[in-house]
Amino acid sequence: MKTAILGAGVSGLSLARFLIEGGVPAEELHLFEASHEVGGLCRSKTVDGFTYDQAGGHILYSKDAEARDWMVGCTGGSDAFHETQRETRIRFDDCWVHYPFENGLCDLPPQVNYECVAGYVTAWEERLRTGSPAPDDFDGWVLWRFGEGIHKHFMRPYNEKIWKRALTELGSSWVAGRVPEAPIEDVLKASVGIRTEGYAHQSVFQYPLKGGFQAITDGIASTLTDRVRLNTRVTQLTRHGAGWRVDGEDFDLVISTLPMTELPRLIEGIPTEVSAAMSGLMFNSLSSILLAIDHDEQPDFSWIYLPHDEQGPANRVTYISNYSPHNAPSGRSGLQCEVNWRGDEPAPSDELTREVTAGLERAGIVKPGQVLFSDRTDVRHAYIVYTHGFQERRQCAIDWLEAEGILPLGRFGRFDYFNSDQCVIAARELAASLLERRRAGDQAD
Ligand SMILES: Cc1cc2nc3c(=O)[nH]c(=O)nc-3n(C[C@H](O)[C@H](O)[C@H](O)COP(=O)(O)OP(=O)(O)OC[C@H]3O[C@@H](n4cnc5c(N)ncnc54)[C@H](O)[C@@H]3O)c2cc1C
Repeated sequence: MKTAILGAGVSGLSLARFLIEGGVPAEELHLFEASHEVGGLCRSKTVDGFTYDQAGGHILYSKDAEARDWMVGCTGGSDAFHETQRETRIRFDDCWVHYPFENGLCDLPPQVNYECVAGYVTAWEERLRTGSPAPDDFDGWVLWRFGEGIHKHFMRPYNEKIWKRALTELGSSWVAGRVPEAPIEDVLKASVGIRTEGYAHQSVFQYPLKGGFQAITDGIASTLTDRVRLNTRVTQLTRHGAGWRVDGEDFDLVISTLPMTELPRLIEGIPTEVSAAMSGLMFNSLSSILLAIDHDEQPDFSWIYLPHDEQGPANRVTYISNYSPHNAPSGRSGLQCEVNWRGDEPAPSDELTREVTAGLERAGIVKPGQVLFSDRTDVRHAYIVYTHGFQERRQCAIDWLEAEGILPLGRFGRFDYFNSDQCVIAARELAASLLERRRAGDQAD
């Protein structure tokens, strides 16, 4: 069965590997990749000895040990990785607040600590007394779950920097499992200074020693090099019998990891309501900015969150040279800053790096004159934005694609808020079902 896999990010590459490992002849698989290299959002860049990840700092961790071990195995085994104990902070005025915020209340100025814990207790008591259900909008959900103090001092300003719109415009269905929920006992302890961990599943993570996070997708791709057509942007998909024609070439099966929002331009004869559903899916874009620093005396942090506008446009700074000693030349260090912008707006101007650096100076994270040089990469599809009606639009798009025989896969292929390990898991599951279909077909013949 001649199969086209559109996109050679971690999803497309993993699917091809699993299919071949399951017995599909490699010659049947054809990966189309617009870029000059594989990896998609997992790509990294090295400039004058400094390495950073192009779509924001990436780390490897997974609740699925099999998926993680498979990724590590493809990349040369655990010796090819550096392991780090997660140390994350929120910069709040001149305080370093442990993350998650509600587990770090004692690090805050006393008045802010009081407002946050009082609000948390009030919200908790109200939920208990009234049994009020979780509100549908994210702003209401934050107030309902965390109370007014945490909403005002952290959740609202930080999330506005991430989502670039009022939080009332966002739904709340996506938060389960993504926004950590601390038990009230932990928050009370945190407020008086007894440390609690919170959010333990990322507490240790791995990162490739050399080549940035991209080493993982390079590893997955290493056995597929003759199957990937680089510099090959797919521009047209037309129905052809039971299969699809991809830019004039016939395929029995198509799997798409391309952003669903791009498909209305590519697929001929797509119904208006499906096209509207796809185009109505919102996403945010990202500028990743490397700051090459002239010294290596950095705190032991993995990354820090910058919730406040005075700290500049960056929402997060990753201490990327703490992930691997090979991410910066000896005696130097690298900071990687992330700035989000709306996917329906143009990219920020060249002034952005200067504004980011000035913000970090005000926040006491870099000192004037310490930045040797900078580098910036923009990524258009970075964050899925859960506006109201998201689930209905997404489902309408997926149902139509699956019924038509274009199988959607991956973070923007399905608009699933997936990390790379979850892309691998989804690829593994899709491969299993395709292999099963194949076996059933063989038996019927
Ligand atoms: C800020 C940020 C932080 C993240 N942090 C982590 C983390 O710490 N750990 C983690 O595991 N994951 C993290 N992720 C998620 C991870 O990057 C993604 O889940 C994963 O890379 C998605 O892979 P994919 O293959 O589904 O999609 P993509 O990587 O987007 O791959 C799609 C591919 O399709 C290609 N393409 C697009 N259009 C066309 C076309 N018309 N024709 C041909 N090819 C085309 C693209 O070039 C790309 O290579 C993060 C993501 C972001 C944005």
